[in-house]
Amino acid sequence: MAQRVAVPDGANKKTSRVRVAVRLRPYMDNQDEKDEGPCVRGMDSQNLEIINWRNATETVKYHFDAFHGEQTTQQEVFVSSVKPILPHILNGQNASVFAYGPTGAGKTHTMMGSSDQPGVIPRAVSEVFKLVKAKDEDEGWDYSIGMSYLEIYNEKVLDLLSPSSHDLPIREDKDKNILIPGLTLTTISSFSDFDKHFVPASLNRTTASTKLNQRSSRSHAVLLIKVVRTQRALPHRQQTGKLYLIDLAGSEDNRRTGNQGIRLKESGAINLSLFTLSKVVDSLNSGTAVRVPYRDSKLTRLLQDSLGGSAHSVMITNIAPEYRYYFDTFNALNFASKSKLIVNKPFTCETVAVLPVKRAKEDHKAGGSGTEPQKKRHKDDRKTEQDGSSPSSHFYSPSEPSVMDRLVALEKLMMNCQDKDKLSMLSVAQSRKEIQELKEKQREFESKAMLFSRLAGEKSSAKQEPAFTNNSAPLQRKQSTATNAKKQQAVVQPLQVFQPLQQLAVVKKQSVCVKKEGKISDQVEPPDGKENSWESQLDTSVLEHSRQKILHILNTGSLKELKGLQQIGDKKAKLILGWREIHGHFINLEDVVKVEGMTGKRFSSFMKANILSAMGK
Ligand code: ADP
Ligand code: MG
Repeated sequence: MAQRVAVPDGANKKTSRVRVAVRLRPYMDNQDEKDEGPCVRGMDSQNLEIINWRNATETVKYHFDAFHGEQTTQQEVFVSSVKPILPHILNGQNASVFAYGPTGAGKTHTMMGSSDQPGVIPRAVSEVFKLVKAKDEDEGWDYSIGMSYLEIYNEKVLDLLSPSSHDLPIREDKDKNILIPGLTLTTISSFSDFDKHFVPASLNRTTASTKLNQRSSRSHAVLLIKVVRTQRALPHRQQTGKLYLIDLAGSEDNRRTGNQGIRLKESGAINLSLFTLSKVVDSLNSGTAVRVPYRDSKLTRLLQDSLGGSAHSVMITNIAPEYRYYFDTFNALNFASKSKLIVNKPFTCETVAVLPVKRAKEDHKAGGSGTEPQKKRHKDDRKTEQDGSSPSSHFYSPSEPSVMDRLVALEKLMMNCQDKDKLSMLSVAQSRKEIQELKEKQREFESKAMLFSRLAGEKSSAKQEPAFTNNSAPLQRKQSTATNAKKQQAVVQPLQVFQPLQQLAVVKKQSVCVKKEGKISDQVEPPDGKENSWESQLDTSVLEHSRQKILHILNTGSLKELKGLQQIGDKKAKLILGWREIHGHFINLEDVVKVEGMTGKRFSSFMKANILSAMGK
């Protein structure tokens, strides 16, 4: 029997970087109903820029290991980003290539492609066969190639080569190799052999339609190519190299795609995997000795031996140039890169007075670089005046606080990454946090004041709410960045990021106020009201302290910490993590009722159990 050997790789214990490439698909007219043109474009083979959502006279520039522009062919993507890692598979090392990005941005095109434009998967498989064939017989190894194909759907592992099978377990052997007992592994002897199994299995993928894409993939499709080499001579040493080729589920924002009910739940699971993947990529690329949270989702658990460590990994982030994808593109770019520059210039490299959105389209259609002067400018300028909208309000209307909230929450999430460079900014972050806490207190006071006024018989609340109704002003884009010459080339730092956090507090006030009214009126039921009698017996400051503690865990707790709360099991903890990923933090404890399955009644019982438990400690 062949003897398995560990890969002689001294770097085994170390974590290695995930190479990040971005691919921008061509602009598509039918994806741009409003005829707005592109909002993102490439600059060179490593850099791209996207219009700044805070201020359309600026662009945000991102740097990556590789940037593949709209004209890049399938072959070029393969040669530059995937081909170089394949020889390692024949030497017993692991690798993974995954396509990330919103639905409709080109993940499946990149990974699968079409018959006339084959993508990474067929090219990589045929290259592996080619490499094996080219191996010198005299080296004394026999090679065998196998394939498995699975999907992760709703955190379940399903075998696409044996569709009747159920959720498969993921295990780790004593050498830290990840295994899936029961998963079909089919030996393949040629590319056509591979194709014979792969094509019908692809049709088994679970798909469901969303508003964005009729055949949107709601699952992560994972193809595994396993190369086992065995020494012909004694002791028949054996080495296994694994290559994962993954077409990830769409990273789009679910509220925009209108997902409801089961779809929303499904999205929560998808987001949990993608969210964990982003944390894993983050901790690998930050180079710090933090725990890599592989175990927090099925996808990352599966990839544990093929992402980081001695493995070779490439993430191809697919993005689309149309404005309708703006938020998802911004999101995807931020996932892919933590370093960006704000460049104080309009998208077209012209003066601030130019409407960047329209100009960009003209550039694009003319096939220009974006730097040539444009003759049609007046017409477009006039249109802007008629619209009465500034370039930024054109698509980031302050009346859409949820959009702003999401962007702010996204940036807030970004700040949680382990970036050493940002440590110096922690004191700023701390003081911002304190301001935020003071604001919370202020809001509590305001709510209480309103309540007292009501109780005193003042019917109209309108006059008491100016602080809550004035929610548009703070959402206007930041003026200072554009005028402050010193900041023009600054790397985006928390100062930029934290500014809107204050805005967030203001924007949220109205809804918070509405929610609180209900809750507070519950709490101030007549003394004979039984519901809250347990609370009324507690010291207010102790009560408040416990509430803050619970809120803190809900907002920052890991899966384990969340499960440490009373009445929160594994499922609920995951739903909370998923909610946090989509919406950011819970502003108030009462917001927990927005998490699926958390009714008002359950919330009351949850609060009682946790407050009493916190006090018992
Ligand atoms: P996703 O898998 O991310 O949802 P698709 O791969 O299905 O996106 O791409 C959406 C559409 O865009 C498809 O019609 C696809 O053929 C087309 N497309 C994507 N990327 C490119 C590209 N680089 N060149 C040409 N067409 C592309
Ligand atoms: Mg797809």
